[in-house]
Amino acid sequence: MRLLIMGPPGAGKGTQAKFIAEHFKIPAISTGDIFRANVSQGTPLGIEAKRYMDQGEYVPDEVTNLMVRNRIDDPDAVSGFLLDGYPRTQAQVDELDGMIAFTGHRLDAVVVLTADRDEIVTRLLQRAEVEGRADDTEDVIRRRQEVYAEETEPLIEIYRDRGILIEVDGMGEVSEVTQRIFEALDGLPES
Ligand code: ADP
Repeated sequence: MRLLIMGPPGAGKGTQAKFIAEHFKIPAISTGDIFRANVSQGTPLGIEAKRYMDQGEYVPDEVTNLMVRNRIDDPDAVSGFLLDGYPRTQAQVDELDGMIAFTGHRLDAVVVLTADRDEIVTRLLQRAEVEGRADDTEDVIRRRQEVYAEETEPLIEIYRDRGILIEVDGMGEVSEVTQRIFEALDGLPES
């Protein structure tokens, strides 16, 4: 199973990604989590990425693409994966298509979580307090929403045109949202 989860910052992608990954026994690969782990370990990748993350900007495609390429080559991702936070730009969509085609597989589905704008800003500010994420100040959150709307939201149409888009209402209880996603995904034929 090769899946993507998309949606605006704060829509609950990371939370749902974990449940989906467990359900299908595939790794959930979050570019945001990998970047944050590198930042906290002070690796060269982390030092590079932090400059962008602190501003709410995307890390350059070359950096992100290479990181994802390496990660999905890991043995645990050979039979499938769920990508959370990738692709976010047209160049990343093209790169991912290349990576998957190279292995002779295809993308099975793209789950998009839809969310109310005001609600998600509140969620993100709460998360900032709980997790102490440095990229979760109000200005940075606002910038992340803008960048998402400009660069990533339009990409959803690409997957809609391919007929693999699954839109799920991301509002309500976490378990309700999970249920909606499973209902939509369980009918899929496996590739
Ligand atoms: P969000 O909470 O906005 O969904 P993530 O936790 O997924 O954010 O990612 C945090 C930050 O990491 C992003 O604002 C961005 O700087 C960087 N990042 C994550 N994924 C990508 C990507 N695919 N391309 C470029 N930058 C990325």
